[in-house]
Amino acid sequence: MRFREKLYRFMQGRNGVDELARFENKVGFIALIAALVFTFVSALLRGRGLETASTVFRILNYVFYGFGILLLIHWIWRVFSRNVSKRQAENTRFLYRKQRISRSIASRKQKWRDRKTHKYFRCPKCGQKLRAPRGKGKIRVTCSKCSNVFLKKT
Ligand SMILES: [Zn+2]
Repeated sequence: MRFREKLYRFMQGRNGVDELARFENKVGFIALIAALVFTFVSALLRGRGLETASTVFRILNYVFYGFGILLLIHWIWRVFSRNVSKRQAENTRFLYRKQRISRSIASRKQKWRDRKTHKYFRCPKCGQKLRAPRGKGKIRVTCSKCSNVFLKKT
C-alpha cells in the first residue's frame, strides 16, 4: 500500500484539518517562536547584569512555551479525533466568534472614518446602534430596530 492510501485510510472517520485546526496550528507556532525570542532576550539581559528583567523574560519564555506546546497537542488531538460531530460543532462556534470579531473591527474602523461627519449612539429603548449626520441640531430619530422615536442632539 502506498503512503497516500495508508494516510487516507488512517484519516477516514477522523476530523482532519478544519479552520480551527489551522488557527491553533498558527497560534501554537507563533507562541513557540515568541518563547524562543524571549530566551534570547533573557540571555542578553543577563549578560548585561540586568537580573530582574532577565528573570521576567525567562518566565515569559516558560509561559509561551507551555501555552504553545499545549495548543499544538490540542491541535493534533482535534485533527485525529473520531468524534467528528463534536469537532465540527467546535469549528462552527470558532467561525461564529471569528466573524463577530471581524465585524466589530470593521464597525470600529467605519466609526473612526466617519467621526467628523457622523455621530454614533444607541437607541435608549433597545440598545440598537444608530448613526446620524453631525451638525443638524436636535433631530427626531426613529430606531431602525424597534421604531422607538426620540430626540437627539447631533
Ligand atoms: Zn430601538
